[in-house]
Amino acid sequence: MDSHTMHTHTCGELRRENIGQQVTLTGWVWHRRDHGGLIFVDLRDRDGVTQVSFDPEHSGGEAFHTAETIRSEWPIKVTGTVRERPEGMENPKLATGQIEVLIDAIEVLNSSKTPPFQIEDRLDCAEDVRLRYRYLDIRRPRMMANLKLRSDFTFAIREALHGRDFMEVETPALFKSTPEGARDFLVPSRTQPGHFYALPQSPQLLKQLLMVGGVERYYQVAKCFRDEDLRADRQPEFTQVDIEMSFVDEDDVMSELEDVLADAFARVGVEMPTPLRRIEYWDAMDTYGTDKPDTRLGMELHDVTSIFAESKFKLFAGAAATEGQYVKAINAKGAGAWPRAQIDKLADVAAGFGAKGLAWIAFREDGSVNSPIVKFFSDEEMAALRAEMDVEPGDLVMFAVADRKLADEILGGMRVHMANALNVPREGHDFLWVVNFPLFHWDDEAKRYEAEHQPFTLPTESDVEKIKADPLAAGSATYDFVMDGYEAGGGGMRIHNAQMQLDMLELLGYTVEDAREKFGFLMDALEYGAPPMGGFALGLDRVCMLLAGEDSIREVMAFPKTSSGSDLMSDAPSEVTGKQLKEVGLRLL
Ligand code: ASP
Repeated sequence: MDSHTMHTHTCGELRRENIGQQVTLTGWVWHRRDHGGLIFVDLRDRDGVTQVSFDPEHSGGEAFHTAETIRSEWPIKVTGTVRERPEGMENPKLATGQIEVLIDAIEVLNSSKTPPFQIEDRLDCAEDVRLRYRYLDIRRPRMMANLKLRSDFTFAIREALHGRDFMEVETPALFKSTPEGARDFLVPSRTQPGHFYALPQSPQLLKQLLMVGGVERYYQVAKCFRDEDLRADRQPEFTQVDIEMSFVDEDDVMSELEDVLADAFARVGVEMPTPLRRIEYWDAMDTYGTDKPDTRLGMELHDVTSIFAESKFKLFAGAAATEGQYVKAINAKGAGAWPRAQIDKLADVAAGFGAKGLAWIAFREDGSVNSPIVKFFSDEEMAALRAEMDVEPGDLVMFAVADRKLADEILGGMRVHMANALNVPREGHDFLWVVNFPLFHWDDEAKRYEAEHQPFTLPTESDVEKIKADPLAAGSATYDFVMDGYEAGGGGMRIHNAQMQLDMLELLGYTVEDAREKFGFLMDALEYGAPPMGGFALGLDRVCMLLAGEDSIREVMAFPKTSSGSDLMSDAPSEVTGKQLKEVGLRLL
C-alpha cells in the first residue's frame, strides 16, 4: 500500500485476503459494461486493474447514477467494499481477478475527451498518432510496463555500480565540440556571439579528465547527443550508462563490467552467466559475418575457397587464384525446400548487403539438387562442399565471392535475413564480448583513416610499431558488449600519453594546430600525470528494448522522436522569433 495519496490501495493490489474491507481506489475508467441493471467498470492505474461494480439498489443508488454518466478515461475516485466475485465470474488473467469492489460512493475527478485511439496493448493506430498523444500512449499497460522495467534496470545498475565504489559524477551538457565520429548539435552562445557550445556526443573526454582528477571509478547515466541522419532505430538523443576506471588494464575493466552487468541483470530477473565469451573481432566477422553476432542463430560462415581452387566455375576458381578474394558459404537449413521463385528473390536481399549476385545450391528433400551452378562442379568438389557445410536434404547453401570483409558482411546479412525468414528460435539472451577491433578503417570519401572506435583509443600494445607503417593492420584495446545480436555497449582503454595522443590525431589528419585547438585541454591534462585508464558505455535504451522484448528503442523511451528528428507532441524542432535569433547573433540564410 502506498501512502500520501487519495486512495487506500492501488488498482493492482487487492486479493481474496482483502474481502470485507472498505477501500478507496483512484484511477481511469478503462472499460464500462452495463449488465442487467448493474454497471461494471474496469478501473485502471499504473499498477493494474480492478473491477468495481455499481448496484442501483446499493447505498440509495447515488453512486450508480453517477456511474451511468462516466466515460472511458475519466479519472475517478471510488469507495466501497471488497467482495468475492460470483462463481464463474473470476478472471484468472487478472491479478485482482478473484475479487471486485461494490461501490458506495464515487467522485468524478475530471472528464476526458474520447481518446484518438484505444488505450489497449493491441495497437489500432499508426505510431505517429501514438507519438502525438504520447501521454495517452503511456497509459497503455505495455508502455507503462516498459517504463517501469527501464526504471528498475536503471536503478539496478546504479546500485550495482554504487556497491562497487563507483562514484556518479555529472558532466556538462553544454560543452565544446569534440568529434567522436558523428555531427554535433550546436548551441549558440548569447554572451559570446559567434561562439557555440556543442551538446556532448558522449562524456568521453570529460570522464578521461575525471580520471586525471583522481576519481578512479566513475559512472553517470548520461544523455548523449548525435546529429546523424536517423536510421530506423536511432534517436538524436539517447542514454548511456557511462563508466570509466583508472589504474586498470583491459582484463580488469572487462571483469569488473561483467560483475556489474550480471548483478544489474539479476536484479531484474535475467541471468547473465560469467565469465562472458570473448570473440576476437576478425573471428566474429569470419564466423558470423558481423561484429555483433547473435550466436543463437547458428548458421556459421565457412571459408570454402580452397575447395574450388581448380573449379570449372570461373567465378569461384578466379577468386581462389586471387590474393585477398574469398569464396564463403552459409547453410540455411529448411530453405532448400523453398520454391525456385522464392530462392531467386534472395539475390535482391544479398544485393542490399553489397553482393553483385547470389550463387546458391538447394538440396531438395527428395535428394535431388537444384542450382544454376552445380553443373560446373566435379563430384569431388560437391563431396567436399557437402562435408564442409554438413549438408542434409532441405538445406540451402549460399555463397559470397568478394574480399574478406565484404564476403563476411554479405553472408552476415543473409544469415540474419534467413534466420528471420525461417523463424529460427531465439531463446533466452545471448551475451558476449567482441574484442580487439581494428584501430582504424579507411574512409573512402574523406580519403583518410578514421578511428574505428574513437580517436582516444589505446592501440594494442604489440601493434604500436605498425601504426604508421601499416595502420589498417593495427588492433586496439577495445571491447563491445553484444546482447542478442545488438551492440549493447562498447569501450576501450585510452591513450594516457600526450605524445601518443598527438601522433594519433596527426595520423587521423589533424594538423598540430587543429589538434591543439580542438583537444588542447585534453593534451594539457595528459601531461599532468594521467593514469592508465579504460572504460565503457552501455546503451541503456537498447538494453531495455531487449529486456522488454521490443523491436524499437522508441518503445522504451517516454518521449522519443520520429526518424526525421521531430517531436510530434510539441512540434519540436520549431521556428524561433527574430528577437531570439538576434540575441544569439544569428541570421537565417
Ligand atoms: N564514449 C564511447 C562511446 O560513446 C564509449 C567508451 O569508449 O567508453 O561509444
